[in-house]
Amino acid sequence: MTPRGDDSAGTGAGTTTPPGWSVPAHEALRAGPGFDLAGMDRRGTPGFDGDKAQGRTAMAARGETLSELQEKLYAHGRTGGDRSVLLVLQGMDTAGKGGVVRHVLGMVDPQGVSLRAFGPPTPQEAAQHYLERIRAALPAPGRIGVFDRSHYEDVLVVRVENLVPRSEWKGRYDEIVAFEEEVAARGTVVVKVMLTVSYEEQAARLRERLERPEKHWKYNPGDIDARLRWDDYQEAYQAVLDRTSTDEAPWYVVPADRKWFARLAVTELLVEALEGLGLDWPEVHLDVETELARLDATAR
Ligand code: ATP
Repeated sequence: MTPRGDDSAGTGAGTTTPPGWSVPAHEALRAGPGFDLAGMDRRGTPGFDGDKAQGRTAMAARGETLSELQEKLYAHGRTGGDRSVLLVLQGMDTAGKGGVVRHVLGMVDPQGVSLRAFGPPTPQEAAQHYLERIRAALPAPGRIGVFDRSHYEDVLVVRVENLVPRSEWKGRYDEIVAFEEEVAARGTVVVKVMLTVSYEEQAARLRERLERPEKHWKYNPGDIDARLRWDDYQEAYQAVLDRTSTDEAPWYVVPADRKWFARLAVTELLVEALEGLGLDWPEVHLDVETELARLDATAR
């Protein structure tokens, strides 16, 4: 299967464009064929016409919608449904993956979210196929799964740092496409978000981590090593977009220099994905009269 750029993704079916958005987020942010990562404005707000204050208002309003849709998904899972959502978050250090988890997923019931962060494989994981730990972390029906980094590290850091030979990683793009196709076919809507921070903004965020003692815990000296290989990482990210943005699992490229926009955009992408499922409250066969009578009979 080849990457395509039409707008028949699993997100957004039957939705209307919400206030502030001139184009639905899944259209404005989707990486179609020929998408040029180097040419994108990382302070941009594609599809959204408002400023920061309007963005915050829009996010709060859509947060309520997101919360209700997530509850419907959870109810669907509790009553035998097979649908789920997987949000894959990728981005360079400081791109704001943690902030998205805190501010976007923080708006929904934590019971319905399964979050997994992927660091370097443990010796046990390294002995397995790289997709094994990913497969084991896929969301159960009714859940929103969130991957903070993912199997894409196996064609990003692994490629840039030569952790395995090229002959080994070059086949992984097609393997990942086939894997995600299989995940989608089992009922999971896959929403892949590339948070894209600029080189200048990354420096400012790293500097802030160094200059503010309460941020020291976030600082990792290895982040500078990765920054030194910025161009190689950009090339590897571009290859990911070229090879793995498919109808079944499209990539959305989110400019991340403005944190408020990145968080609003991910909120919107999740709302659109959940709306696309078209779920309603499950019909539960309950004899309400009888149950009310039983409840009344418990009165003291
Ligand atoms: P983050 O940098 O995401 O905020 P962190 O600093 O807490 O997280 P960890 O969660 O321990 O660090 O790990 C993140 C690191 O793990 C990243 O540098 C990433 O490149 C690396 N990593 C993730 N997956 C792999 C992989 N498959 N192979 C090698 N390294 C990986």
